[in-house]
Amino acid sequence: MTFTRGHAQARDEADPLSRSRWMFSYADETIYLDANSLGRMPVSTPLALRTVTRDEWARDLIRSWPKWLEEARTTADLLGREILGVEPGQVALSDSTSVNLYKLAVAAVRARPGRRRIVVEADNFPTDLYVLDGVARDHDLEVTRVVADINDGVRAVDLAAVLDEDVALVCLSHVSYRSGALLDMEGLTRQVHDVGALMLWDLCHSAGAAPTPLAESRADLAVGCTYKYLNGGPGAPAFLYVRADLQGALRSPIQGWFGQQDQFDMTPTYQPVEGIERFLVGTPNVLGVVMVREGVRSVALAGVEAVREKAQALTEYVIALADQWLTPLGFRLASPRDPALRGSHVTLEHPQAWQACQAWIDEGVVADYRMPDRLRIGPSPLSTSFEEVWLALDRLRVIVESGAHLTYPEKRSRVT
Ligand SMILES: *Cc1c(COP(=O)(O)O)cnc(C)c1O
Repeated sequence: MTFTRGHAQARDEADPLSRSRWMFSYADETIYLDANSLGRMPVSTPLALRTVTRDEWARDLIRSWPKWLEEARTTADLLGREILGVEPGQVALSDSTSVNLYKLAVAAVRARPGRRRIVVEADNFPTDLYVLDGVARDHDLEVTRVVADINDGVRAVDLAAVLDEDVALVCLSHVSYRSGALLDMEGLTRQVHDVGALMLWDLCHSAGAAPTPLAESRADLAVGCTYKYLNGGPGAPAFLYVRADLQGALRSPIQGWFGQQDQFDMTPTYQPVEGIERFLVGTPNVLGVVMVREGVRSVALAGVEAVREKAQALTEYVIALADQWLTPLGFRLASPRDPALRGSHVTLEHPQAWQACQAWIDEGVVADYRMPDRLRIGPSPLSTSFEEVWLALDRLRVIVESGAHLTYPEKRSRVT
């Protein structure tokens, strides 16, 4: 029963989030399983952009700035409250995730003078590894890379093995970009605090797909992007979180005028504002802020708890179909099997994953490939139906059964 198309359709009918689908734009019949890379566009986004450009920029020009600056603040707080579950005044929208990670990591290591190590997960997203290596080099520190199971992610024992009072900062991804493993934010943060270090979470793959217990865990710092499950669109500003009681003790290494007290007094010396805005640098990307607002609203309307439930149901369904149809064809699950330990995507390993990925695209299914031999399947809790999952996996089964993927090049293209 589980394996019929009718079963998938029945699940869609019973799904309380099935109507969330119509918040987004669909140009064609493509089955999109890459919400973990770039979320779909909310239909409200182009309308909101038209208002900002046609009315506010073209007509009101500079008189729009008070409204725009207010928009940046309220959107950051909206994201904080609805997506991250934190009180206002602790989230800012700015720059990219990489730049925010740099600002917070430098501020953190300088707030722990005398400690000589930064701890990071060996399989963290590459930009996180690069940024932290650079911070360590410029501050004469060492980076310890925690090696954990590539599918299960960092567990308490893995972290315990590298923690001591010489550690200034620990940086982990809440959900692993490769396997989708969801880490225990509360437990791991407690371990880090027990040695007096600061904890920085990268929320790129969890924000908008799973609750982020920043407040409950008393995590110190976090960063994340808005274009994945938050549907903010390409290049929309990233966010950063600094717990309120820590803000006064931390300083951004980039002393820009948007973090300056009484900014428009134009004083020649830098004195950071109180509060989260000391981590801002320059003029906000106003169009991007509006895109973030629409994306955050799309998730907030459904609610993060409902989104989490749907994400678990969709990924459970992917795994059930894969067990039945794809395991006999040489696929292997490369994500945690327990839904409580998994974010919103499922990774499957197959020796010809790259070729299968290309053939799948030609059959109207967009997922992505990750090194060395993995397909990442990231359904959107808001816009992907159970029937689409069924169709997508059925097509993959037919491709690999028939060997159709073997006619595709083995060599990878630049963007995967
Ligand atoms: C997507 C992602 C990023 C992206 O960083 P940008 O600077 O916004 O391009 C960073 N870290 C992780 C873990 C990601 O998944």
